[in-house]
Amino acid sequence: MTQSPGQGQALDNLLTESRTFPPSDEFAAQANAQPELYEEAKADREAFWAKQAERLHWDTKWTQVLDWSDAPFAKWFVGGKLNVAYNCVDRHVESGHGDQVAIHWEGEPGDSRAITYAELQREVCKAANALKSLGIGAEDRVAIYMPMVPEAIFSMLACARLGAMHSVVFGGFSAEALRTRIEDSSCKLVITTDGQFRRGNPFPLKPAVDEAVAAAPSVEKVLVVRRTGSEVAWSDKDVWWHELVDGQSDVHTPEAFDSEHPLFILYTSGTTGKPKGILHTSGGYLTQASYTQHYVFDLKPDTDVYWCTADIGWVTGHSYIVYGPLSNRVTQVVYEGTPNTPHEGRHWEIVQKYGVSIYYTAPTLIRTFMKWGADIPAKYDLSSLRVLGSVGEPINPEAWIWYRENVGGGKAPIVDTWWQTETGAIMISPLPGVISTKPGSAQQPLPGIGAKVVNDEGVEVPHGGGGYLVLDEPWPSMLRGIWGDEERYRDTYWSRFGEQGFYFAGDGAKYDADGDIWLLGRVDDVMNVSGHRISTTEVESALVSHPTVAEAAVVGASDATTGQGIVAFVILRGGAGSDAGGAEAIKALRDHVAKEIGPIAKPRQIMVVPELPKTRSGKIMRRLLRDVAENRAVGDVTTLADSSVMDLISAGLQSGK
Ligand code: ATP
Ligand code: MG
Repeated sequence: MTQSPGQGQALDNLLTESRTFPPSDEFAAQANAQPELYEEAKADREAFWAKQAERLHWDTKWTQVLDWSDAPFAKWFVGGKLNVAYNCVDRHVESGHGDQVAIHWEGEPGDSRAITYAELQREVCKAANALKSLGIGAEDRVAIYMPMVPEAIFSMLACARLGAMHSVVFGGFSAEALRTRIEDSSCKLVITTDGQFRRGNPFPLKPAVDEAVAAAPSVEKVLVVRRTGSEVAWSDKDVWWHELVDGQSDVHTPEAFDSEHPLFILYTSGTTGKPKGILHTSGGYLTQASYTQHYVFDLKPDTDVYWCTADIGWVTGHSYIVYGPLSNRVTQVVYEGTPNTPHEGRHWEIVQKYGVSIYYTAPTLIRTFMKWGADIPAKYDLSSLRVLGSVGEPINPEAWIWYRENVGGGKAPIVDTWWQTETGAIMISPLPGVISTKPGSAQQPLPGIGAKVVNDEGVEVPHGGGGYLVLDEPWPSMLRGIWGDEERYRDTYWSRFGEQGFYFAGDGAKYDADGDIWLLGRVDDVMNVSGHRISTTEVESALVSHPTVAEAAVVGASDATTGQGIVAFVILRGGAGSDAGGAEAIKALRDHVAKEIGPIAKPRQIMVVPELPKTRSGKIMRRLLRDVAENRAVGDVTTLADSSVMDLISAGLQSGK
């Protein structure tokens, strides 16, 4: 059904979803979260967060929970002191869990390593001593440019232990991307590897570091882990990890740092512009990472085996591979490689091998699994899985259902977690065992979090209305700024709704009739068709709900009559090629969208493509598709995971004409 643009709404609400999945009694009875958690947080927010902070070990207790007097710069747990690495490692050894496996590491070529908490402690201490010997101390910046090897995690924790700040740069980024990030925060040290395995082959990594360091004078040393054994050029700045770290003492006494001591800088992926160095600090960040890990994933440290498939180059890898899980004494799988190496069942083989019980991934991967076919996961024993998570983009309802049926055995609750690099930790998500889940909706702000959907004037929209997602209360793991650019921090997040004092997330959202929140993609991507403001997400979800479609990306292209017209790019399931995209099939898809969400959302044009342009973190880059749709030369493709995709798409479209 179509609606005229609702009064006071910034976005149309087109899609309705009636399926809900209440938690089983069994799950609810054992869940970490109980309904009272919401009431407790509502009754006294600061007392609630103070209680969550007690999950950690503090050397000195705080005197004030929140100081917001210098807004938008927050101070949480003022006066408190703690060591983040101690909280993630040593205290578990001291409480008698030194023999518990912290990390089941699985290399892409099939090598593996089980690292206990006692071993993790020794490795982190050795690395901390090594970094200290290289002159690294509190507040120094260390760039970490590595594949998913255990040393990457040791390095992050060694920095935290010394009070140095890490700046992890994704190992797939170019020398130039690395250089700008090193320069922006004047890193003193770079930690890297000789090379990395990718799709079954070793690829060099250090040459990119050499190139970046040659142009970045702040770098004094480069610490190199041997991973692939490939030949590397060597300079007097270079030090082998095995020569320096292995010989260090495995004892190191952690120092307690102020709760607001900087912990890391992480540059956002740059889907929308020049990367921003997002700054996070210690006490509040770790509190919320730890709290969310426990409740959102229902983590039971004695019995669960957890696996987050992110790369540590993204914030998800920081909060849900390193700080959240380890502060909760998790046993987790860390996998080095790609999901289809050596075959498309690799993830399920790993789930089966380790008995993974909690699995956290991104919609892009779920849609890829759909494309590969349900018969692949069906070959493996996935019965250990009991909680599934999703992050990074809106998950289309059909992908959600597919995930539940084919991975979760039709019963594991799915937590669709909305958050950002800037928020540091999960903000909006159902709590498993408490909330009846709904395919496609992130649903409710977590206890302790304030989130709203508002219109252009900053007024909350009614149920059924769409607008902008804002956060209306400070939260412990919120960013403390953009490195070196206070003005950009204020402009980007705090000026849009400055009067109301809301944090502007940059995402479109709506409430459904029950008041649950649906994320609708970036505000910049919203389409305007004959005065209707339509979200790309809703049209994409409608397309993906057709049985032939595996993935869809939708953009608004300028249109002489309607302002913008909807142009859709679709990938068909099971690898069907563009010959399956004949006029009949396209018409069927257009009609399907009209039926699902209304004639106004009917795409003007649908193109069948073999691939979609994605960032390295798996997000669709709609700006490039807009270029194609508007017959322009394609813009900057340097942050694409695979820059040849655009050629493929253009070539396919030429031949199809
Ligand atoms: P940049 O800010 O540089 O453009 P980015 O926004 O892609 O990069 P991240 O911080 O990794 O970098 O991503 C956060 C964004 O991802 C959110 O603002 C939102 O658009 C999207 N997102 C994350 N989780 C979800 C989710 N569960 N549902 C919908 N969207 C999500
Ligand atoms: Mg962003």
